[in-house]
Amino acid sequence: MEKKKEIKSPKVFKLSLLPQWLQMAIAEMWEKNGTKPENVDVLYTYFEGIYTARAISQDIFQHECVHFIRQGSGENENLAKEWWLRYVTDPEFRYQEELMAYREQYQFILKKTNKAVAFEIVKNRLAYDLSGPMYGFLCSYQKALSDIIKQ
Ligand SMILES: [Zn+2]
Repeated sequence: MEKKKEIKSPKVFKLSLLPQWLQMAIAEMWEKNGTKPENVDVLYTYFEGIYTARAISQDIFQHECVHFIRQGSGENENLAKEWWLRYVTDPEFRYQEELMAYREQYQFILKKTNKAVAFEIVKNRLAYDLSGPMYGFLCSYQKALSDIIKQ
C-alpha cells in the first residue's frame, strides 16, 4: 500500500531562535525602508516554522502557513533561504507574497465570522498592515484593501 504523504504544519519557535543571518537581513531591509524594528510587532516564518514572541491567533497562523508553503513546507531549507533573500530585496516579490497571505487570512476570517465582521477587520487592520511600515510602505491603503478582498 502506498504511504500517503503527510501535509506538514509549521512548528512554533521562540523569536530569539530565528537564525542570526536572517535577523540581520531583516534589520537591513528595515534600515533601507526607514522603519525601525522596535516600532513593529512582528513574527517570522522561516523553513520549518513560525518564530514568535507570543501566542498567535488562528487567522495569523493561516497567514503564516501561506509563507510556510511558499518556502517549501519545511522540506527545503535552500528554497526557504532563497525566498527570504528575495523577500528582503525585492519589494514587488514581497508585496505578492504578502498579498497571498493576507488574502488567505481574510478568507479564513470570512469563514469564521461573516462579511460585515471580516470587512471591519480587513479595513481596520489587514489593509493598514499590508500598506504600512512593516513591509516598507509597499502600496497605498486603498490598493491593499481592494487587492485583499478581490474575488
Ligand atoms: Zn506575511
